[in-house]
Amino acid sequence: MLETSEMSFEERMVSPQKTENDTDDFEVTLRPKSLSEYIGQDKVKENLSIFIEAAKKRGEPLDHVLLYGPPGLGKTTLSAIIAHEMGVNIRITSGPAIEKPGDLAALLTNLSENDVLFIDEIHRLSRQIEEVLYPALEDYALDIIIGKGPSARSLRIDLPKFTLVGATTRAGQLTSPLRDRFGMMMRLELYSVEQLTDIIMRSAVILGIACDRGGAIEIARRSRGTPRIANRFLKRVRDFADVIGDGKINKDISKIALDRLEVDSLGLDNMDKRMLNMIIKGYGGGPVGLETLASAIGEEAVTLEDVCEPYLMQLGFISRTPRGRCATPLAYKHMGYEFKGEVPDTEQLTFN
Ligand code: ADP
Repeated sequence: MLETSEMSFEERMVSPQKTENDTDDFEVTLRPKSLSEYIGQDKVKENLSIFIEAAKKRGEPLDHVLLYGPPGLGKTTLSAIIAHEMGVNIRITSGPAIEKPGDLAALLTNLSENDVLFIDEIHRLSRQIEEVLYPALEDYALDIIIGKGPSARSLRIDLPKFTLVGATTRAGQLTSPLRDRFGMMMRLELYSVEQLTDIIMRSAVILGIACDRGGAIEIARRSRGTPRIANRFLKRVRDFADVIGDGKINKDISKIALDRLEVDSLGLDNMDKRMLNMIIKGYGGGPVGLETLASAIGEEAVTLEDVCEPYLMQLGFISRTPRGRCATPLAYKHMGYEFKGEVPDTEQLTFN
């Protein structure tokens, strides 16, 4: 086992991305199957349930949906729920997996009427594939070129009506023609401690783990607003409960386990702390540009932007100013430093 400080991004306990330990079986078992089982994201759920009911009444497919927000918040889960609520099948793929126009054509021609096609990381589709997708989304048709040179002909193939559910962590990277073809764009938010507590209690029941509410709250507090991290922590804390306790998860066991895993009381790990330390000690509290910050602590800028920043901003620990990132007085306090500077202007958090 590597020391936490040497762990790669994928191996971080607090990584919201899927890691090797988040096996498909584990995630699938814990996935809510219906909208009523899906905890939190109330605005998204309310709107979706109306649109689903309306589409079902008309006997039409649901309009194309774009789900965006940080990883691990339930985009894949929600797409499966959409298919379930519509009473149709779902095909799951991802932007990088669709390499050639033929790959997309094969997926589309194999759909049944009103099915859901889920494309994760949709911002990573190539332009060439996007071009094939446009008529499919608008007219449920594929335009195929047969032959080469002057004798080439275009042939139109009708497709079954379907719903595309696209998921992305970076809505800003979608080309505007693609973005415009979604009838609904829904942003998933980080979860509150209360919602995560409910998710953990639900997962514990499914997995047959004895966990009291105090234990679940302690895990939830450290899960960075992300269900995937909450479920992963639940599994790890259970190991500690089995070995150093009586198999039951309570507040004390959760605390001991997560402290040992070097996840602090608010869910920060070494990478977050190095980032905050560098802003505070290395750059006098900021502002400092993201690229500069990333190279100073030896991480990729996109990792800091996608993984550390959304949560640190939600905690109110960093702010974005036009000249770079600043640490706030709250961050100074949490890191044990005295704040002497001016309070920086804050900017709304946007995922793009
Ligand atoms: P994403 O596609 O956004 O990366 P997933 O849909 O794969 O996230 O969700 C990761 C895990 O978190 C799933 O296994 C699921 O069990 C859990 N999860 C996500 N959202 C919820 C929710 N609202 N209620 C309960 N569990 C959830």
